[in-house]
Amino acid sequence: SMVLCVPMLSVQPKGKQKGCAGCNRKIKDRYLLKALDKYWHEDCLKCACCDCRLGEVGSTLYTKANLILCRRDYLRLFGTTGNCAACSKLIPAFEMVMRARDNVYHLDCFACQLCNQRFCVGDKFFLKNNMILCQMDYEEGQLNGSFESQVQ
Ligand SMILES: [Zn+2]
Ligand SMILES: [Zn+2]
Ligand SMILES: [Zn+2]
Ligand SMILES: [Zn+2]
Repeated sequence: SMVLCVPMLSVQPKGKQKGCAGCNRKIKDRYLLKALDKYWHEDCLKCACCDCRLGEVGSTLYTKANLILCRRDYLRLFGTTGNCAACSKLIPAFEMVMRARDNVYHLDCFACQLCNQRFCVGDKFFLKNNMILCQMDYEEGQLNGSFESQVQ
C-alpha cells in the first residue's frame, strides 16, 4: 500500500547526532529532515526516479515497494488512467491507451465489441450505445434498427 507523508524540518537535537537514512552518515547540519520516522540530510531525501529533492517546504512524498517517490513519479508508476470501458479493469497510468470520446481502453481491448476485429491506424470505428463497433457492425445495426431501442 501507499504511504503519503510531508517531510518536517527540525533542528538537530542536542546530544547524540542522528544518522541519515539516505547516506548512513551522521548529520552534522543544524537542520535535518524528519520523514517516515527517520532522519535525513536535506540533500539526501530524494525521489528514487528523478532525483528531485523532496525536502522542500510543502512537498509531499510517496512511498511504495520501498521506493520514495515524488508525486509525479508516483502517479506515473502507480496511478491509474481510469477504468477500461471494455473490460472495466483499472488501467495503470504508464500504460498506452486508446481513447474514444470520454472512454479509455487497453490497447488489447480496443476492438469491435461484436466481432472482435482490431483496428489499424486510419480504420474507421464507431461508438454506439457506448460500444466500439467496426464499420460493418455499425452499418448492420443501423439497418436492422437494433440501436434505436436504447437511450443514447
Ligand atoms: Zn545523508
Ligand atoms: Zn520524481
Ligand atoms: Zn480492457
Ligand atoms: Zn465488428
